[in-house]
Amino acid sequence: MHFMGMALSLTLRDLKIIIDAQERQLLKFMLNRGHVKYSFVIAKLSVISICISFLSLTSLSLKAEELTNSEKADAIFRQFDLGEINYPEQSDKMLAELDRLIADDDLKRRHKLVGLRCWYQDSATTEEINVAIEHASKLILLYSDPKPSYILTELLMCRGFYYNLNSFTDKALVDYNKAVDDSYKLESPRLIADARSLRGTMFSYQGEYSTALEDLITAQQIYESLDTPYWEIFNLTELATAYRRFGDPATALRYQEKLLASFTETDQNLDANEVRVQMGYSYEALGQFDKAIEHFKAAKLYWEANDDPEMAADMAVTIANAYMALGQYDKAKPLLENHKHIIPADFDAPYSHLMYALAQMAHHEGNSKQALAYLEESQQAFNKSANNRGLTDAQKLTSEVHASEQNWQQAYLELVEYNKTHAALDEKLLSDRNAEMLARFDNSKFKRENELLERAAKAREQQLAVMERNDTLQIVVIVLSVIILVILSIFAYKQLIRQRTYRQLALTDELTGLSNRRDTYNQGQLFLKQAKASGKPFSVISFDADHFKAVNDTLGHEVGDKVLIKLAEIASSMMRDTDVVGRVGGEEFLILLPNVEQGTAVEIANRLLSTIANFDWQQVAPELKQTVSAGVASFSNETTLSPLLLKADKALYKAKESGRNCVKAV
Ligand code: GH3
Ligand code: MG
Ligand code: MG
Repeated sequence: MHFMGMALSLTLRDLKIIIDAQERQLLKFMLNRGHVKYSFVIAKLSVISICISFLSLTSLSLKAEELTNSEKADAIFRQFDLGEINYPEQSDKMLAELDRLIADDDLKRRHKLVGLRCWYQDSATTEEINVAIEHASKLILLYSDPKPSYILTELLMCRGFYYNLNSFTDKALVDYNKAVDDSYKLESPRLIADARSLRGTMFSYQGEYSTALEDLITAQQIYESLDTPYWEIFNLTELATAYRRFGDPATALRYQEKLLASFTETDQNLDANEVRVQMGYSYEALGQFDKAIEHFKAAKLYWEANDDPEMAADMAVTIANAYMALGQYDKAKPLLENHKHIIPADFDAPYSHLMYALAQMAHHEGNSKQALAYLEESQQAFNKSANNRGLTDAQKLTSEVHASEQNWQQAYLELVEYNKTHAALDEKLLSDRNAEMLARFDNSKFKRENELLERAAKAREQQLAVMERNDTLQIVVIVLSVIILVILSIFAYKQLIRQRTYRQLALTDELTGLSNRRDTYNQGQLFLKQAKASGKPFSVISFDADHFKAVNDTLGHEVGDKVLIKLAEIASSMMRDTDVVGRVGGEEFLILLPNVEQGTAVEIANRLLSTIANFDWQQVAPELKQTVSAGVASFSNETTLSPLLLKADKALYKAKESGRNCVKAV
C-alpha cells in the first residue's frame, strides 16, 4: 500500500504540472523533489517488465549467476516502479547498479534501462529540459529500427513529455501521435493507455476537449480492464479535470470526491492536496466560491507547511481571484500584495494568473493604465502556456477596461479578439464527438458503478434491518427483564414483609405487644441453657394482676384490657434490654432475668410491685386501684424450664395467699 501511495504521489505531481502549470519553473519544484520522473518511467517499465519476465522464463540457457543478477535488476526495476527510489540521491546510484547488473546481451532489460534513464534526465530548468530533449532525440534515432518497438514508443512518450514541459506543444503532439500509433501496431493495451493518457492530458489543458476526452476515456477503460488501480486513479484525476474544463464540474466533483477520500484514507497528502485544489476549481465553476475558497485555503496551508512559498503564493492568488468573483476586493487586496513578489515572471502559469488578478484589482480601483499593463503581461503569459481559457478572460477584461476609459475603438477590437478565441473554444466544446464520448463513457461506467452501488446499498439495507431488528429485540428484552425484575422485587419484598408480620404475629401478644407465651417460654429455655453452660444465675418473676376479675366485672372488659396494657408498659419500662417480659396468660406475666440472682430478682420484683401499686390508676378509670402479686424463682440445675416456672408459680400462689401485692420467692 505504501509503495502504491508513493507511486501515486508522483503521478499526481505529474498531473499537476501537465494540467495547470505546464511550466518549467513549476516543474523545477517537482523535479527537484524527484516527483515527476518516476511515474511515467514506472508505467512504461511495467510493460517491459512483463516481457522481461517472460523472456527470463524462456531463456533456459542462462547461467545461474546471470539469473541472480537479472532477478536483482528486476527487483530494482520494481522499486522504481513503486516509487521507492528518491530522485536524485538514490536514482543515480540505482541506475548505475542496473547498468552493472544487466548483461550486455540482455536486450530487453537494456532497453528497459534506456527508457528509465530517459525519464530520469535532469529537467529542473528550461536548459536542462532542452538537454533531456536532445538526449531523447539521439536515443530515438538510435532505436528507430526496427519500427515500431516498445523502446521506441517509450522514448517517443518520454520526449513528448519533455517537449510539453517546455511548451513545445506541437512537437509534443507529433511524438504523442506516433507513440499512440505505434502502441496500436504493437497491440499493447498498456502502451496504448499510457500514450493516450499523456496525449489526453495535454489536450485537456489546451482546451481540445474532443480528443482529450476520447484519449482519457479510452485510457481509463483500458486501465480498468488491466486492473491497474494506480494508473486508473492517475488517469481518473485528469479525466475529472477535463470534465470540469469541459463544463461539467458536477461530474468532475463526483470523481474528485472519490479521489480525495481514497488519498486521504491512504495518507497520500500531496495527492490529496492536488485533488483539493482541483475541487476548488470545480466549485468555482459551479459558482460556489465559498467552498472553493475553503479548498484553496487548505491547499495554501499545505504548501506553507511543506515550505513551498511559490506554490503557496500561487494559491493565494487563486484565493484572491475567488474573493474578487464574490466582489470582496478588500479581502483579495492583501493576499495579492503579500504574495505578488514571490511569483517570478518566468513562472508562466502562476504568473499569468497573478497578472490577471492584479489587473482585475487595478480595474476595480479605477487605475486603468495599470490594469492594461498587467493585462498585457497576463495575455503574453497565457499565450506562452497555450491557455486559451485564461486568454479569453484576459481579453474580455482588456475590452472592459478600454470601455471604462470610453476608448471604444480599442474596446471593440479587443472584443473581436475575445470573440475569436472564445468561438474557437466553443467549437471544441460543442463537438458532437464530445457528447458521444461522454455518453458512451458515462453509460458504461455509471451502469457498472450503479450496479455496484445498488448491490452495496442493498447489502447495507439488509444489514441495517437486521441490526435494527436486533436493536428492537434487545430493547424489548431489556425492558421485559426490568419489568420482571421489578415485579419480582416487589413480590419478594411483600413476601418478606408478610413473613416478618406472620413471625411477629406468631411471637407477639396482640393486646400488649409483649412476647406471647410461646415466645417467652422459648426464650426462657434458651436463657436456661446459657445459664447451665456458663454457670451464671438466671431468675424469673411470675406476676399476676390481683382481683382482676372484679375489674372486668365492675369497670368493663375494655378497662381490663387497658389495665393489662399498662401493666405490660410498666414492666417493660423497668427491665433491661436483655430481659424479656412476656404475657403468658390472661392477666399473668413472666419476666426472664438472665444473669440475675434470686436476691436481686426479689428486689426487682418488689420495685415492680410498688411502682404498679403507686401508679395513678385513675388515669385509666376513676376509682381504679391495681396491684399485682409476684413469685420469684431462680435456676438451680433444672434441665428444662417447666420446673423453674412451677417454682415461680408456687411462689406466686404463696404471695396470693399472703394477701396479694407482695413478692414471694422459692
Ligand atoms: P386473683 O387475685 O386471685 O388472681 O383474682 P382474679 O380475679 O385476678 O383471678 P381469676 O383467675 O379469678 O380471674 C382472672 C380474670 O381475668 C378472669 C378473666 O375474665 C380476666 N381476663 C383474662 N384475660 C383477660 C383479658 O384479656 N382481658 C380482660 N379484660 N380480662 C381478662
Ligand atoms: Mg389474677
Ligand atoms: Mg390469674
